[in-house]
Amino acid sequence: MSETATANILVELLPQKAKPKAGKLFINGEFVDSASGKVFNTYNPATGAILASIAEADAGDVDRAVKAARAAFAEGSPWRKMNSSDRTRCLLKLADLIRANAEEISELETLDTGKPIFESSKFDIPQAAECFEYYAGWVTKITGETIPVSKGGDAFAYTLREPIGVCGQIIPWNFPLQMLSWKVAPALACGNTIVLKPAEQTPLTALRFAELTLEAGIPPGVFNVVTGSGATGAALVEHEDVDKIAFTGSVETGKDIMRTASKSLKRISLELGGKSPNIVFADSDIETAAKYALGGIFFNQGEMCTAGSRIFIEESGYDQFMSVITSRAQKMVAGDPLHPKTRLGALISEEHLNSVLNYVDIGKKEGAIVTTGGERIGTKGYFMKPTVLEGVTNNMRVAQEEIFGPVASVIRFKDIEEAMREANNSQFGLAAAIWTRDIKKAHKLARSIKAGTVWINTISTTDNALPFGGFKSSGFGRELGKAAIDLYTETKSVWVDLN
Ligand code: NAP
Ligand code: MG
Repeated sequence: MSETATANILVELLPQKAKPKAGKLFINGEFVDSASGKVFNTYNPATGAILASIAEADAGDVDRAVKAARAAFAEGSPWRKMNSSDRTRCLLKLADLIRANAEEISELETLDTGKPIFESSKFDIPQAAECFEYYAGWVTKITGETIPVSKGGDAFAYTLREPIGVCGQIIPWNFPLQMLSWKVAPALACGNTIVLKPAEQTPLTALRFAELTLEAGIPPGVFNVVTGSGATGAALVEHEDVDKIAFTGSVETGKDIMRTASKSLKRISLELGGKSPNIVFADSDIETAAKYALGGIFFNQGEMCTAGSRIFIEESGYDQFMSVITSRAQKMVAGDPLHPKTRLGALISEEHLNSVLNYVDIGKKEGAIVTTGGERIGTKGYFMKPTVLEGVTNNMRVAQEEIFGPVASVIRFKDIEEAMREANNSQFGLAAAIWTRDIKKAHKLARSIKAGTVWINTISTTDNALPFGGFKSSGFGRELGKAAIDLYTETKSVWVDLN
């Protein structure tokens, strides 16, 4: 039996509504075949089984999608003529539809990613709905300014905020619908049109979302989905009629995108990886810090760009912290991601699991000690024990390279100067957490840490209102909050001579 035939049978496993769109691209408001007819499979990481066959878009398909997005952006198109109240209602409707279908979408997300249904249903999917609600509120508040000019005699000058145009959006596999919402919601709020490229491992919720855009009254062509591999993403970046690329993913792909985008000088924003320090001072509530540190590194199997993967602990609090984190990590049991009690799911693929396990070996060779975990669980699905490495120094590869899995590297420090220096000794700068009861120490460190987000006495929280993004190799541009309105608009200055 061919792989495609197998996929067509296993597609029966998908929730009812997910079936029609599996194997199709979404272009100009319709589910269509790719021109080549080529398909690839998406798998369930908890079992290794094929979930569905997915259409593979080539450069010609990408061109069709871009043309649809361009036509939908043309002056006088239904989308450009839509007033801001109606656009607000479209975004609110999308949020409502995500909520109304939350159970099915959460199940789809869990099947495709291997993450616990607890996480999809309590975090990812509700947060995606909230993101559309948040940006629905922005639609009627995107304004320019009137600005007094100092030259040219009497003049009236003002700015307009205009949509950029056709936005290519490329997202990773770790938080598929949530990453979609962070990009699609502000882009639509500002009046852009979109061609979205989901990760090849997790295309299902983006395709389901595409159906919802029609129900929400988003005109055909405004939102398009091209499924495929990295080559599909590259074709989108290459396309001369794409005005902006918003990307979340790895540093290497980010650099590729920057090089290619320079040819047409399209706008880019890059959310890349991290190796975020989680700094625990001895004067903090160590028990709480250790409990939160677990979530900081093991939530979503550690497949998080903001994972608090470098845990710095001040000497005198070290033993207490280690005993809490080690014993709690040992109690974390991986299980069927669809079971509501499961808190630790499967990693995205066998290849990725092997890469994470390889890092454990690298750490051991560098002199780190595995206090708990370090092994695969079973042979079915891609499960791994939560792992804590101690005896790590900040120059080791396990402290410098992004592992993107359930592996915490624990490093001791003596004083605030050492913590500050070592926390910043990294190519990354996405996030950092600080645990202390000393308010001066906390704020001093928050200022000196080179990271886009600093948490004090908490970790891993984001909010739709708060800008999110990286320093250094973690990328540039800020998503969420008002910052994303800047990301998806051009500023135009208009000068009126009144002399
Ligand atoms: P990735 O390989 O860079 O892939 C991300 C997306 O880019 C996928 O849709 C991928 O398609 C596509 N892509 C691959 N090569 C491309 C190319 N040459 N041109 C255009 N698009 C291309 O990253 P990943 O392995 O999927 O995701 C894990 C990485 O993402 C980690 O390093 C993590 O830190 C980072 N991440 C960062 C954030 C953040 O907000 N900063 C959030 C989540 C993840 P395929 O899937 O088909 O290869
Ligand atoms: Mg999958």
